[in-house]
Amino acid sequence: MATTQIIAHRGAWKRTDLPQNSIAALQKSKELNCDGCELDVHLTADGVVVVNHDHDFYGLSIEESTYTTLKAIKHLNDETIPTLENFLAHASLPLFLEIKASRISMRRSLELAERVLTIVDKSTFTGTIHYISFLEEVLIKVLSLNPAATVSLLNGKLAPAQIKSNGWQGFDYHVDILRKNPRWISEARELELLSNVWTVNDAENMRYFLDSGIDFISTDEPEALIELRG
Ligand code: MG
Repeated sequence: MATTQIIAHRGAWKRTDLPQNSIAALQKSKELNCDGCELDVHLTADGVVVVNHDHDFYGLSIEESTYTTLKAIKHLNDETIPTLENFLAHASLPLFLEIKASRISMRRSLELAERVLTIVDKSTFTGTIHYISFLEEVLIKVLSLNPAATVSLLNGKLAPAQIKSNGWQGFDYHVDILRKNPRWISEARELELLSNVWTVNDAENMRYFLDSGIDFISTDEPEALIELRG
């Protein structure tokens, strides 16, 4: 990949003071011409896939609440918690879709993965989706259901050669992991893996990773990174 791409982490929410993972933050990332938008999904008690970072939504445990209960609470911009269907209906840029680990069981994490793929399959969204997760089991599940899927590991535990031999497409690692392992970005390139870093919010790290030739930088400050990259 020639130029490092800029991914709005949980949408473009920080400078705009929008709720993270809201439809408005998604739309703002598109307006800014970001190259992609990251989002996080969870499974409600009654099996609805919703978009939110934390396991709780304004004090309610998502996994232990029904969608109807969650829907009664509003974000500060008056939106309700987006379902994945609704989010996809508004999306028109590449997505980095994080399948969150269940706090209840691995079985529910895998069920979430399965439901996500079904929803994506039925949706009219035709853009690229990168599936990302801290759980290796989830990546395996995604690829078992869709061998053409693009999956990247978040947990920072595997070197590029191991990612490659697992049959995965890339990694999306914490800034400290990649600063400690500076060779991993060039190794990824040699192995034709995708490389992504989270969450890069300061100018020094922005410059470092732009210079590294990494494929993607995930940031809460896309406006600043766009300005720096030019
Ligand atoms: Mg995330």
